[in-house]
Amino acid sequence: MKLVLDGHGYKYAVEQAMLMFYPGERPDYSTGSGEGEREGLSARVRISRGAVYATATTAIRAGGAAYYGRARVRLSELEGALISDRLLQAAVRRSFYAAAVAATGHRPVWGSLTGIRPAKTVARMLEGGASLRAAGGALRRRYRVSPERAELCLAASRAAADVDCGLSRRDVMLYIGIPFCPTRCAYCTFVSSGTERSRGLIEPFLAALRAEMAAAARAVEALGLAVAAVYVGGGTPTVLSPEQLDGVLGHARSLFDLSQAREVTVEAGRPDTITREKLDAMRRRGVTRVSVNPQSMSDAVLRAIGRAHTSRDVIRAFGEARGAGFGDVNMDIIAGLPTDTPQGFAMTLDAVAALGPENITVHTLALKKGSRIALDGTGVPDGNAVSEMLDAAAGLLRGLGYSPYYLYRQKFMSGGFENVGWSLPGHMGVYNVCMMEELRSVIGMGGGGVTKLVCRAGGRIERIFNPKYPLEYTKRIESIIEKKLSISLSL
Ligand code: SF4
Repeated sequence: MKLVLDGHGYKYAVEQAMLMFYPGERPDYSTGSGEGEREGLSARVRISRGAVYATATTAIRAGGAAYYGRARVRLSELEGALISDRLLQAAVRRSFYAAAVAATGHRPVWGSLTGIRPAKTVARMLEGGASLRAAGGALRRRYRVSPERAELCLAASRAAADVDCGLSRRDVMLYIGIPFCPTRCAYCTFVSSGTERSRGLIEPFLAALRAEMAAAARAVEALGLAVAAVYVGGGTPTVLSPEQLDGVLGHARSLFDLSQAREVTVEAGRPDTITREKLDAMRRRGVTRVSVNPQSMSDAVLRAIGRAHTSRDVIRAFGEARGAGFGDVNMDIIAGLPTDTPQGFAMTLDAVAALGPENITVHTLALKKGSRIALDGTGVPDGNAVSEMLDAAAGLLRGLGYSPYYLYRQKFMSGGFENVGWSLPGHMGVYNVCMMEELRSVIGMGGGGVTKLVCRAGGRIERIFNPKYPLEYTKRIESIIEKKLSISLSL
């Protein structure tokens, strides 16, 4: 799609809005005579400033017709570079949204919101003194968010407020990433290969991880922080042997003071890696919460996504987790997987709900570039089918007493939908809420670990990324440790 920006440089905002309506298009900023702009698909996005308002105007030309959208923001609201950029970018997206709805007739459920944390928009309104009700109204009217999605945002904001008031200023979260999986799922771009090929990298990786954990513990102590939650994710942490898993968890316990931690989660993930021995090791090491992730309870869908387990393995693993004493279990499922249908997804929902986990996280498939699905061009359910699946999930889960408590979006999600964490009363995952709403800092360790320093004074967030591949992580451990030791934080 030919794009022309006039009076601003907000390329990213324009491209995000473009992808919502024209996912197959790529931005083209080449300058020409203007003929191409009139003939093909194009958008001209302009910002002009008057005495009272800055106005964003989008003109989309498609099929020989022109469609217009406009959004404005008061100049008096444009205080400082950060806020000014945020509000002007939102105006750009809103104007693009209005023009694109007119051009395509399509109304995305998230309206003109494109970020990965839609509830943040509500958080900002609440910080500005708005009530939850007013924030919900603004989401619907200003950003054109559907009533159901606006309600999800409000639920996430309520959960964030609940969690926030139980935390102290000095609380911090720990993340430990184990970047190995038994096989690579068809929709994944995170791990490069299954453990068949990468098993030899595990021990060197664990040695490097122990060194990074020691550095992180020194930083946490020097900064006077208290660990409020721990999340061991991946990858699939349970690809480790019981001894290796016990070693990582034991090391964490000996380095960090976890006496005040509200939860310690291990993303057990693939049911085919979960054994009673590993679960017992986790319990002994104080793990309070595990994730057993079926993604689907249809064996045909599981085969289609390259998983080496069946729905029976899921039921067995869930039973083992209960048998080991876990009273807080999460299960992840995905709407929109290849070969799945709304009927098949309804069967998955029923089967998972019948097990009665305390948390169910309903993801929407993200078609990541570089994943096997994207490379092979594998067919996936269309946006309408995914919408039907998500509606069914919301209806069933609400009926069973689950409430939504955190949500996020990713790039290239089927139908532009979202991932939502649902929980039974009293079982919200503290780490998930803090992470998504950026309530406190996260010290990330291991493969793909992201350290996120939330400097509350000034609202600045600094991120430090660890390499995601084990070999790179192991090779670069010295510089990773150096960065850990130089962490500073203004609370
Ligand atoms: S379990 Fe997760 S990290 Fe592992 S291959 Fe599948 S999607 Fe990727």
